[in-house]
Amino acid sequence: MSFENLGLAPTLLRALSEQGYATPTPIQQQAIPLALAGHDLLAGAQTGTGKTAAFGLPLLQKLAAEPNRTRKPRALVLTPTRELAVQVHDSIRGYGKYLRVPSTTIYGGVGMGNQLDALRRGVDLVIACPGRLIDHLERRSVDLSGIEVLVLDEADRMLDMGFLPSIKRILAKLPRQNRQTLLFSATFAEPIKQLAKEFMRDPREVMVTPQNTVAETIAHRVHPVDTGRKRDLLLHLLAQDARVQTLVFARTKHGSDKLALFLEKSGIKAAAIHGNKSQNQRQRALNEFKAGKVPVLVATDIAARGIDISELPKVINFDLPMVAEDYVHRIGRTGRNGSQGEAVSLVGQDDAKYLRAIVRLLKQDMEIRDVPGFEPQVPIRWGNSAPGKAEQPGGQRPPRKPQGNKPVHARRPHGDAPRHAHAGPKKHGGGERRGQQGQRGQRHGASRNG
Ligand code: AMP
Repeated sequence: MSFENLGLAPTLLRALSEQGYATPTPIQQQAIPLALAGHDLLAGAQTGTGKTAAFGLPLLQKLAAEPNRTRKPRALVLTPTRELAVQVHDSIRGYGKYLRVPSTTIYGGVGMGNQLDALRRGVDLVIACPGRLIDHLERRSVDLSGIEVLVLDEADRMLDMGFLPSIKRILAKLPRQNRQTLLFSATFAEPIKQLAKEFMRDPREVMVTPQNTVAETIAHRVHPVDTGRKRDLLLHLLAQDARVQTLVFARTKHGSDKLALFLEKSGIKAAAIHGNKSQNQRQRALNEFKAGKVPVLVATDIAARGIDISELPKVINFDLPMVAEDYVHRIGRTGRNGSQGEAVSLVGQDDAKYLRAIVRLLKQDMEIRDVPGFEPQVPIRWGNSAPGKAEQPGGQRPPRKPQGNKPVHARRPHGDAPRHAHAGPKKHGGGERRGQQGQRGQRHGASRNG
């Protein structure tokens, strides 16, 4: 299968070949012909699968085919974060370099001036984050009544971030007739399906990866550690692989700042990106990381969304995410396009319950391995006491006890062989009750290995 077979215009093919795109990725193969034919699309694709071209190419082809007679935007791409907006814009500009499709990004954290100028001059394509777009709608500086194509990129993340009301407000300003809607999401919990039902016309579904799965080329490893010693363990791991570009995830903005500072003080160049940094700061940190000038980037889930670094070898979860789906997004940064990736999680006493939710979601075993010298002194309760809302994958019922399933357990094996966090039989998911039994009976031992 080649791009020529997908029905794309020669000007697009030329740009793609210049960028070294030889073969369409699976999502591109499936989505492009359907989108070119004018269908609405419900597309299941993670970051890193080539989804931007999957919607960007048909969108450009449609816009370039007819001149814009109104000066109103004709296509709108909604993204959850500024970084993703910038990245999508850059990609689309690259794909459309031989076409005349004026475009702009719209996001908060920067002045209004450039955005207002661009909108006044007239653009065909707007790539926007919901919050700032609403600001423009309120000021009447953008008119969305001419939108022919709407793309919801990373729709699951937009909903997680509480953008549903904003999205609905924006949708109310778009024409209902003759509008094509393309919705891309890594996961499909009920609210996404509901959104699709309400606002899409007979959407075709394309799924390139089973829901909530991660690339098979990623090795997942869990290092148990006392919460208070996580920083030292991180330092130890980074020092072992000093030249490996590593993305470190922390749960909070404050936490990621403190961690980056700690690494810097310990002699490891690190930058932090999160929602409290200005757009310029975030972009600079990202550029330095991409260029390899800063080997460690500490990020929160939200800021990391949209980071596109091909073949990032390693992701370290300093804290596990509270929402299991975020693990999928986090480690989607590594193991891209078939390359090998490593996803390492430092699991302290507070994280164990999140690990179980992740293993249950991924239905994949994870190796639990002590790092000599960092074995936890306080027992880690690997069982799941009272699963909070965040632990239950959206739209799924709490798993029931499967027969013969092993819980995510940390029964210390004899000797120092690695243990595994077990996912259990795929069709059942993990076992909640079983987990509670496990919690009573199976404690992480406090003794050191070896
Ligand atoms: P995306 O999922 O759109 O963020 O794309 C992930 C990465 O894959 C980006 O660096 C793209 O430039 C790259 N990419 C997308 N499609 C292709 C393709 N068909 N061939 C090679 N690289 C691609």
